[in-house]
Amino acid sequence: MTRHDIPSLFEKGEPEQPAHHIIRVAFESGVDSEFDYLVPDKLWPVTVGQRVETPFGRSNKREIGFCVETDIKPQQRFKLKRISDLVDKEPLIDAGLMELAKWISDYYVCPLGVVLGAMLPGAVKKGAGEKKEKYIYLAVGPDEIEKAAAEIKGKKQIQVLRLLRESGAYEPETAVELGELLEQVDCTDLPVKNLADKAIIKIAQRTVLRSLPAVPEGMMLIRQEKVVLNDDQEKALANIIGRINTGQFGVTLLYGVTDSGKTELYIRAIDEVIKKGKSAIVLLPEIALTTQTIQRFSSRFEHIAIMHSGLTAPQRNTQWQKIRSGEAGVVIGARSAVFAPLNNIGLIVVDEEHEPSYKQDTAPRYHGRDVAIKRAQLRNAHCILGTATPSLETLQNCITKKNIFNMVRLPKRVMNLPFPEMRLVDMKGFVSDKYGITLISEPLANQLSEVLSRNEQAILLLNRRGYSNFIFCPSCKHILHCRNCDVTLTFHKTPRQNIAQIPTITGRHIQSGSAMCHYCGSQTLVPEKCPLCGKTMIMIGLGTQRLEEELAGKFPNAKVARIDSDSMKGADYYRLLKDFSEGKINVLAGTQMLAKGLHFPNVTLVGIISADTSLYLPDFRSNERTFQLISQVAGRAGRSAKKGIVFVQSFLGNQPAIQFALKGDFDGFVQEELKHRQICNLPPFWRLAVITLRDRTFEKLELAAKLLREKIDQIVASERLQVKVRGPMPATISRIQTFHRLQIILQAPQPAILHQLFTTLRKSPPIRPAVMIAIDIDPVDLL
Ligand code: ADP
Ligand code: ZN
Repeated sequence: MTRHDIPSLFEKGEPEQPAHHIIRVAFESGVDSEFDYLVPDKLWPVTVGQRVETPFGRSNKREIGFCVETDIKPQQRFKLKRISDLVDKEPLIDAGLMELAKWISDYYVCPLGVVLGAMLPGAVKKGAGEKKEKYIYLAVGPDEIEKAAAEIKGKKQIQVLRLLRESGAYEPETAVELGELLEQVDCTDLPVKNLADKAIIKIAQRTVLRSLPAVPEGMMLIRQEKVVLNDDQEKALANIIGRINTGQFGVTLLYGVTDSGKTELYIRAIDEVIKKGKSAIVLLPEIALTTQTIQRFSSRFEHIAIMHSGLTAPQRNTQWQKIRSGEAGVVIGARSAVFAPLNNIGLIVVDEEHEPSYKQDTAPRYHGRDVAIKRAQLRNAHCILGTATPSLETLQNCITKKNIFNMVRLPKRVMNLPFPEMRLVDMKGFVSDKYGITLISEPLANQLSEVLSRNEQAILLLNRRGYSNFIFCPSCKHILHCRNCDVTLTFHKTPRQNIAQIPTITGRHIQSGSAMCHYCGSQTLVPEKCPLCGKTMIMIGLGTQRLEEELAGKFPNAKVARIDSDSMKGADYYRLLKDFSEGKINVLAGTQMLAKGLHFPNVTLVGIISADTSLYLPDFRSNERTFQLISQVAGRAGRSAKKGIVFVQSFLGNQPAIQFALKGDFDGFVQEELKHRQICNLPPFWRLAVITLRDRTFEKLELAAKLLREKIDQIVASERLQVKVRGPMPATISRIQTFHRLQIILQAPQPAILHQLFTTLRKSPPIRPAVMIAIDIDPVDLL
């Protein structure tokens, strides 16, 4: 051995492997650029959409990134690092989704790696529920087995061989699972090891995912009878199928009142697409993904996959793999199901297209509906947007983009049931001097007694969870605020601790509880006495917990259940809805979770405890939200031959949004609202973008915001862009989680103008001092 054969202490362990290919990698960590890496030849080929492990940054920390381009031409400027491994055997993102990701990254001003990361469920990235299993097969042919066996002494070893031969395990494809084999032979794995050492058998490893159903156990798939479509439905369906048959991209706005049979049409349209060998996605708001809805689709389609947050991680992984393998042709899910890895998409349905919850509130801040439209366009597929109260954006598209957007109406309820009677209750008459307002006015209470005496059911809606949203000192007017955020604290009862004894409006004492911030989640104990003046504190304002208590006081015999995100954890929610549908509960009280998608024929009364909660928000969409809330809730009442009544309690009864909603006059509302939007250059006429900057140090934040504004002004001037810029100004909630928040709002008549502005901004050097910056294109609110 010569000296040179001994690796020097100062040499890196491995000699450099040859590498002839360069790929571009995008990382989830948030940097807004991609990086080029060499691929060692032994790891080649790498495909676009595959994940790779790479050294990253100065410390060469291991990072996982997505390959987003191959065939990158070498540049001499600096030495490239090498990828260290492949993470996936096959790409998780196919070419179609990669194209969509690039569009999202570009349009929503978000790093490509962040978009790709959001496209994949965490459960898939982690391989949740996957297990490595060992498999065994024969390494010798049928003729050699006898010879080999003759030389073996161990009885168990011979049994193993016999079993493998009987099951014909001569190839990896026909291998027998180790655990199964050990059980049958009834031995430890020692005989197997011995055989493997003698090279008579081979051991292989496979990743397996135990298949898990996504539908809660015990929920049988009931076959539903196929209904006969009515004339309106027939016409609408013919129209939609006609457009599907063109094989071209197009959007149908299916504008139909609640219960007009829209869902039935989605199902028929999907049928049509499946017949053509194509696949379909149905998007629903998370809260509408109830057992009822899922049941309805799964009773009509055999190969269906479900994606929503109620699933466990292994369930989610199972569903995703099922879609990717082509086993599921129909996917039902919430917002992120728009990224389902389906091949050959023919149709995407977005139910309740006006729902603001389709907008994701973390990066990438995409709108599920708009991404659905884009995906359909890229795949030459059709898109159906269904709703009883279309968004103003979609209505406007039907006017200005007639060649793509087509409106189809279903004006009547299926059974031609009368719409429920709407009654406005002016709450000004129900204020008590001492403690504020009662939640259940006399007229509503009277109606509720009647409903209960007839053994019918009621739904009461209050769009605010917790017990009370102000904890207030009547003497010095002090209100408890969050330490971290610019909001008042909400009192939540927690029955088990014994902390505060505070009088409520009903005069009863609450056992205990804590004050909670709905923005940062922090909790504090509630002081019994005002920290400023020492007098006893009281609680005013609204909350579902207080509603529950008032109901218990006024209707001691009624069985009341509360549904909101505090009281509901997955399975509980389904169980409660089931109990309600079976009549075990008389009154459901809760937040807007109740307003959607539920179908209970015995509900004859719906009470909106306060129609004003969203009207008080300083946001240009507050009228639209108010109208939608009232009309949607109203749709819950009278879903059978029994007549339904809706009580709308409000302090602002003359407000146009409320008035139009009471009359069920959507077109009237739209005309009125569009006037204001046009005057103020707001959507759907102009486009909006909001830049929110945040930092713990206000001075630093202010400086950064000022510099950003100056840079925007420069770009607007030098590129002659028609953009209105406002701010920096404090956001509506000026502090969240101890971070101060400033906003800059941009308005432009066309999206392309904002796009141009942000493209330049992305290329220019970052703002110093560095603060957190969030860009929201087409925001659904300005809070
Ligand atoms: P939407 O989605 O517009 O609220 P659905 O499709 O859910 O309306 O229809 C409401 C109810 O009417 C459902 O129970 C559905 O099964 C039923 N339905 C729909 N179309 C018909 C029809 N043509 N004949 C009878 N029942 C129908
Ligand atoms: Zn807070």
